[in-house]
Amino acid sequence: MKKFLDGYRTFRADYYTKHQAMLQELMAKGQSAKAMMISCADSRIDPSLKFGAAPGDFFMVRNVANMVPPYQADGAYHGTSAALEFAVLGLKVENIIVMGHAKCGGIGALIRNADTTPTDFIGSWMKMLEPARDRALAVAGNASADHIQRLVEQEAVKESLKNLMSFPWIKERVASGTLKLHGWYFDLADGALHIMDGQGAFKPAEV
Ligand SMILES: [Zn+2]
Repeated sequence: MKKFLDGYRTFRADYYTKHQAMLQELMAKGQSAKAMMISCADSRIDPSLKFGAAPGDFFMVRNVANMVPPYQADGAYHGTSAALEFAVLGLKVENIIVMGHAKCGGIGALIRNADTTPTDFIGSWMKMLEPARDRALAVAGNASADHIQRLVEQEAVKESLKNLMSFPWIKERVASGTLKLHGWYFDLADGALHIMDGQGAFKPAEV
């Protein structure tokens, strides 16, 4: 914990001192983020670090395997869907980015079927990605294990984009052009961002 408390002191002395006016204005005016990011809870993934985002830029959800569940207004506790509702209807974000990543532990377990041990939550959460896994495995051929994992990770982003469109208020805004959905994929090892094109292919972003 010492590392974090030392980090806090550095934040106070450095970042906070330099940006105090901006932060106070941001807190007084309320947030008005125009982009929502859904990324993995993986400790190695830090979207703000990679995209030069300042406080107030991203409305952020991080969960296991950066997943958007399908629309189910059934009164259950849907944390990701609640965040989506606030981002779209409250903040009126103009962009939603689903960002997958390389070496995702959740997806690795899904490929290895390692979730056969009953769990309270993770098993049923990851089950949502079984169609994505099966689609990727169907085209994987003799690909290496690493390549297969990458295919499933990217297919999982598409699954989440598909699920986003099952939310009526998202579908409506995408149709009217006031909301855009984006599929991104990041590999921390080579620092490369890949952006999904209109055909569903992930292409390296310009550097
Ligand atoms: Zn992950």
